[in-house]
This record gives sequence, structure tokens and C-alpha cells, in this order.
Amino acid sequence: VPESSNSLQAYAKDKLSGQMVELFEACQQQTSDLDRKERCRARLQQDIQRVYAVARLYLTGSSMNGLGCRSSDADLCLVLKGNKRHDPIQVLSVLQRLFRSLSYVERTHLIRAKVPILRFRERGSDLEFDLNINNTVGIRNTFLLRSYAYADLRVRPMILVVKKWARHNQINDASKGTLSSYTLVLMVLHYLQTLNDPVLPSLQRDYPECFNPVMDIDMVPEGPKHIPPYVSTNQSSLGELFIGFLKYYATDFRWDKQVISVREARALPKTSSHEWRNKYICVEEPFERNNVARAVHEKIKFNAIKTQFAESCRILHGRKDLNSILPVRAII
Ligand code: ATP
Ligand code: MG
Repeated sequence: VPESSNSLQAYAKDKLSGQMVELFEACQQQTSDLDRKERCRARLQQDIQRVYAVARLYLTGSSMNGLGCRSSDADLCLVLKGNKRHDPIQVLSVLQRLFRSLSYVERTHLIRAKVPILRFRERGSDLEFDLNINNTVGIRNTFLLRSYAYADLRVRPMILVVKKWARHNQINDASKGTLSSYTLVLMVLHYLQTLNDPVLPSLQRDYPECFNPVMDIDMVPEGPKHIPPYVSTNQSSLGELFIGFLKYYATDFRWDKQVISVREARALPKTSSHEWRNKYICVEEPFERNNVARAVHEKIKFNAIKTQFAESCRILHGRKDLNSILPVRAII
């Protein structure tokens, strides 16, 4: 039995909570998964440095923030410094040509999104990579999320189950107008921060020097190494928190009037600034303070999301069995 599950047992005395721990233990990223991603990152960095001598490649996203599954892709950020302003598309085109000559890379293609990415696979494996250029906010927020992930034992299983639930119900795909994983994570953190008896604080408020938004990017991974676990008096079980999360967004949260701010650990009033105006869901990026949920721009998708919270809340509240909303065996 992994050590983490021993102390987690304190929050898993009921059936629903036990099922959540079981799903978490079965799906969470393993050390061997991370090692494989890290080996690939190091090799890619070496090959990229033949073209961009001082480039640095960072693993970001769920691979690094403690919230990854065995099946999670690996997000990469290439940091190119210097006074030359790099055009991401141009750099990615150069990398695409380079990658096509590398024996351990396959299926390279460029995605021209708001943040352009090069998507590729490690040859012969199902490991997928998304590489961006100089989107350094992703490095900063990865280490912020990582600090939240380890601030309380309940955070990681809670978020993993929410991600699985959202994916199963087809509301976890920003490219299809629903919620990105990053948005879902911020929604869970916000719920845990705003309980009457909070499970999480605002780490940016309590440790501003660790999350200084202009800190040199090389220092970012060092920043949060010494943050102690948060001591909460809230002893709710995982199942109670999961039902509470669904209920909060099904009935309490005012989508038309409130902005989720993990930075301030509260809901902010929605102003008429262009960031929030006419947006169905407003979730503040903790560093850049823009809306991470802007992909939800169709009313029909917004309604589908709200309906899913309400339906799952109703069913789970009655049955207290994770299988009633998520086929646990099929997912494990
Ligand atoms: P999954 O396990 O589903 O891959 P993930 O945690 O990697 O989830 P993604 O939504 O794929 O989440 O995003 C990957 C990373 O990219 C995030 O952890 C975050 O660092 C960064 N990111 C994603 N969306 C934004 C955004 N709108 N603004 C800033 N950073 C973002
Ligand atoms: Mg990812």
C-alpha cells in the first residue's frame, strides 16, 4: 500500500471516499511515467540546442504539477531568451523540420492556436507531447498548482476524480467549447478555498515571494520548495468534498455575477471590463489575470456544463456511489 493512502484513509471511511481513493491510486501518474517524460525532455533539449544554443526546455502541466494521470500528455515550454523577439510559428516550423530528422520522434504537427503548439509522439509509444514557445506563464502556474496539490492530502485525489468525471461527461475539452483541465483545476481549488472552513488558503497571498510574477524563470521551480503543508481544521471526507463541489457549482455559484479568483481565494464581482463582459464562465488566470475559460463561448455548451453539475449532484447525493456517475472499473 503506498504511503499516501495510509494517511488518506482518515478521509476515506465512507464508501464513496474509498472509491475515490481507489480511482486515484490506480490512475495517478507513476514515478516511471515521469522518468520517461523527463528522459525524453532532456534528449529533446540537447537536440534543440544544436539549433538554439541557449534554449531551455521545461516540463509543465499535469506531468509536473502533481495532478497527472498515467494517461496524461506531457506539456513542454521552450524558453528562448535574448533580445530577438521570436515568432512562435516560425520557431515551431524550424523545430518541426528538426524533429522529423530525429529517430525517437514521430507524428509531428503544428497547431496554430492562440498559443501555437507543436504536437508529436515519442516513437513507438503512446506518449504525446505539446510544445509551446516562451509561454512562460505555464511554468509559473505549474509550480503554483503543484504547491496547492501538496498543501493538503485531499487535493490530488479530489482533482483527479473531478477530471475523470468531467472527461467522461464530455465537458473537459476546450477545443470543443467546454472546460480545459486547467480551468477545472482552478474551479476545484476555488471551492476548497471558499468553504466556511477552508481546506486551502491563497498561497499567493501567504507566500508572495515564492510566486512573484516577475521572478526569473530559472528560479521558479525553486520558489515553492519550502512551503509547509496547510493545516486546516476542516476534516470533511473526500466524498463529502466531491458532493459539495458539485453542489457549489450546481446551486451556489453565480455564473452571471462572479469571477473565480484563486489568487485572492474568493469570488470577485464581475466587472464590465472586456475580459469578463459577455463571458459565460469567468476564471481568473492567477498570474496574468485573464479568463482561462474563454473557450466556453456557446450558450449550448455552457448549459451542458451546468446541467452536468446539477444532474451528477442529484444522483450522487442520493446514491453515494461513484459508479452512479462514473464507471470506475472501466476507467481503471
Ligand atoms: P491534463 O492532465 O488533462 O493534460 P493539464 O493539467 O496538463 O491536464 P491543460 O489544460 O492541458 O492541463 O494545460 C496544461 C498546462 O498549460 C496547465 O497546467 C497550465 O500550466 C497551462 N495552461 C493551460 N491553459 C492555460 C491558460 N489559459 N493560461 C495559462 N496557462 C495555461
Ligand atoms: Mg496536459
